[in-house]
Amino acid sequence: MNSLVATSRNFQRAARLLGLDSKLEKSLLIPFREIKVECTVKKDDGTFMSYVGFRVQHDNARGPMKGGIRYHPEVDTDEVNALAQLMTWKTAVVDIPYGGAKGGIGCSPGELSMRELERLTRVFTQKIHGLIGTYTDVPAPDMGTNSQTMAWILDEYSKFHGYSPGVVTGKPIGLGGSLGREAATGRGAICAAEALLAEFGKSISELTFVIQGFGNVGSWVAKLIHEKGGKVIALGDASGAIKNPNGIDIPALIMHKTAGGALRDFKGVDVMDLYELLVHECDVLIPCALGGVFNRENAADVRAKYIIEAANHPSDPEADEMQILSKRGVVILPDIYANAGGVIVSYFEWVQNIQGFMWGEDRVNMELQKYMRKAFNNVKAMCKTHDCNLRMGAFALGVNRVARTTVMRGWE
Ligand code: GLU
Repeated sequence: MNSLVATSRNFQRAARLLGLDSKLEKSLLIPFREIKVECTVKKDDGTFMSYVGFRVQHDNARGPMKGGIRYHPEVDTDEVNALAQLMTWKTAVVDIPYGGAKGGIGCSPGELSMRELERLTRVFTQKIHGLIGTYTDVPAPDMGTNSQTMAWILDEYSKFHGYSPGVVTGKPIGLGGSLGREAATGRGAICAAEALLAEFGKSISELTFVIQGFGNVGSWVAKLIHEKGGKVIALGDASGAIKNPNGIDIPALIMHKTAGGALRDFKGVDVMDLYELLVHECDVLIPCALGGVFNRENAADVRAKYIIEAANHPSDPEADEMQILSKRGVVILPDIYANAGGVIVSYFEWVQNIQGFMWGEDRVNMELQKYMRKAFNNVKAMCKTHDCNLRMGAFALGVNRVARTTVMRGWE
């Protein structure tokens, strides 16, 4: 299912659950502003290449709009719209004072040199600098972008507006970034998993895990599971998947990958294909990559007991609505809660920039845990009130907060 249709469908189900007025529902669905710009850059070989850059600002009722910038070939209007909308509900679920936005450029970052990426990022920033800002819209890293990308955006933005560290988050530490930001999405997903598992009297150390995606989020999730004594029995990225029923040596694998090694060349594991990874038997499955992973075709084959959605919209609502997974007792912790750790620590980074005061890493991690725990309890309470699953509980919580603030502000 198209990602925008899918996200809007979850929103509409939550709106119905809450009994929202249909006019309010319509106003919450329409994005505040959609930006689409041409980005033409000179390549290293002297030729030119043109890309399309997007920034969708979905809602700002609760504060400045917030969300990552993705560099990926699948970036298009609908995908960015869906992700921007998800950011609005996500920031509301974890109760940080932001709205939602998302941006991106349809490109393959792996095929561009560092100099080309820098030029592309600067051209994109030149096109959107008037529409972002510390108190209007604050970008951050997402798939295909990182702290270096944020440094270029900050530098380019500052040429027009003066030095403004709060205009982006996920910056390098030396430029006003926050300690703990890089690990934050992974760490948040682990806090979320612990909160869920505790409801069933379980802990990470006694369980087996499968991780799909081994980029920033997936590798932190794997590292933290390993540190907590859990067993990662299979993992994979776009290049392929590996398994070891006795547990993969995660620190060694991270070293292997950092040295440029491919997953399939890692010693002591068996190679398998990506579908096998998804349906591999385990206690907890954690998707950490692109959306649209579970759908009506494959959901019946999934053999995990719990799914922690560290990726954005990995589950197609059709599979949810047909209750393919839940009928078999699979419990899904939804993306707008499970992967909110990144934007929570982005909020701490922004607060530190405004305060002009740097927090220690312990404080960052402690506050992150506090926000994740509180949000879990809030989601649980919503599930009880509306007798619904965790996804609808999270959507209802987020949508209700945004709706209440919108009404409070009025329309005059
Ligand atoms: N890209 C991340 C997300 O999807 C982080 C966004 C942010 O920190 O603003 O939540």
